[in-house]
Amino acid sequence: MAIEAHKCNQPECKGFVVFENADFDLKDIQTDEKYGCYAFDRPHCSECRKEFLVIPHYIVIDVNDKDFGEWEQIESACITEFERRQRELKMHAG
Ligand SMILES: [Zn+2]
Repeated sequence: MAIEAHKCNQPECKGFVVFENADFDLKDIQTDEKYGCYAFDRPHCSECRKEFLVIPHYIVIDVNDKDFGEWEQIESACITEFERRQRELKMHAG
């Protein structure tokens, strides 16, 4: 099982887009019903809840760019960065 983390591209957002890539079958990629393109998954940002698409090969894109033909690939991050951020949030909440 591998967990992928990417940095959200929303201005001011420090959230992460996290998804498991274990279940993805490269030979059987589903067409996303909502966006009408090939996508493995449709994860959300952990903080602002912005929606992203995971497309072959594990590239995470901003769904709003889809119609323009040029998709913005968001920056990949280390899962430990995400975990550190989650701990920070818990500390502030407590
Ligand atoms: Zn976000």
